[in-house]
Amino acid sequence: MTTPLLEVKGLKQHFPIKGGFLKRTVGHVKAVDGIDLTVYPGETLGIVGESGCGKSTTGRTILRLLEPTAGEVWFDGKDLATLPKEEMRRMRKDLQMIFQDPYASLNPRMTIRQILLESLMVHNIGTKEERERVIEEIIQVVGLRKEHLNRHPHDFSGGQRQRIGIARALVVKPKLIIADEPVSALDVSIQSQVLNLLKELKKEFNLTLMFISHDLSVVKHLCDRIAVMYLGRVVEIADKRALFDNPRHPYTRALLSAVPVAKRREKRERILLSGDLPSPANPPSGCTFHPRCPYATEVCKTQVPSLAEIGGGQLVSCHLVQSGELPR
Ligand code: SF4
Repeated sequence: MTTPLLEVKGLKQHFPIKGGFLKRTVGHVKAVDGIDLTVYPGETLGIVGESGCGKSTTGRTILRLLEPTAGEVWFDGKDLATLPKEEMRRMRKDLQMIFQDPYASLNPRMTIRQILLESLMVHNIGTKEERERVIEEIIQVVGLRKEHLNRHPHDFSGGQRQRIGIARALVVKPKLIIADEPVSALDVSIQSQVLNLLKELKKEFNLTLMFISHDLSVVKHLCDRIAVMYLGRVVEIADKRALFDNPRHPYTRALLSAVPVAKRREKRERILLSGDLPSPANPPSGCTFHPRCPYATEVCKTQVPSLAEIGGGQLVSCHLVQSGELPR
């Protein structure tokens, strides 16, 4: 069995809610509420869910851009959640992020050359000549030209800026890249170009990726396994094919029913969920999906279902799926 590159155990990110004259903590927004995940070397794990389900916060908490409230993040034999700040800074070379808004994440006053060189210099990589050679190579790998290195971020289109964001992540040769909605700010016509680039780079560099998106069809294009999140928890994880052919959690089924399918005979019946996503400041008891679930029973209202394997590496957090009462 392959050893995971990343293993997340019971990860929580609770943001305090301050209230009253003395600004005391009066509650918590449970953005991430006990997540277990593994990512294996060379695979792309997709994280999907509605806006506000905690998927981006999960990515940022894994990278310690946000300090975790609780849990463990094992990477390369070390628990990132408790690593001293200086050691964590060194580890960042191996853990890079591609952000949703490439423009906001690139310093507008720096040239692309300076942006890429900065990444190498922060981690003390290479001599001056080696750094120049590496950035000239990487800019071409992402489909831009050497001349582009002397320009500023505002000289580029959204798609080109995201290529620069990808180059910045790749230039330090990381072991894991977390891509947070990397194409959602781009025009649809440009999205597929950037996705295809990521797909090619994944093959060429044997990248390990965590790909966060609200869009299941985007995740299907790129990922090997997919984790579905709902209200700060993972409700289902499966191989891409198993998830699309045989989704088991009622929430996954509803999400998938909204994805257009190419072949007419595969047409799915649309499952409409009642109500909105509840507030993570006041999540429902038991299975947090129960107020919107068409199959909810009494036990669902009081007992939190565990995320348990139901066969073939598919893990589902649902009482009725685990007891075999929910039809396939
Ligand atoms: Fe629905 Fe109950 Fe399963 Fe939750 S545990 S998804 S409420 S059937």
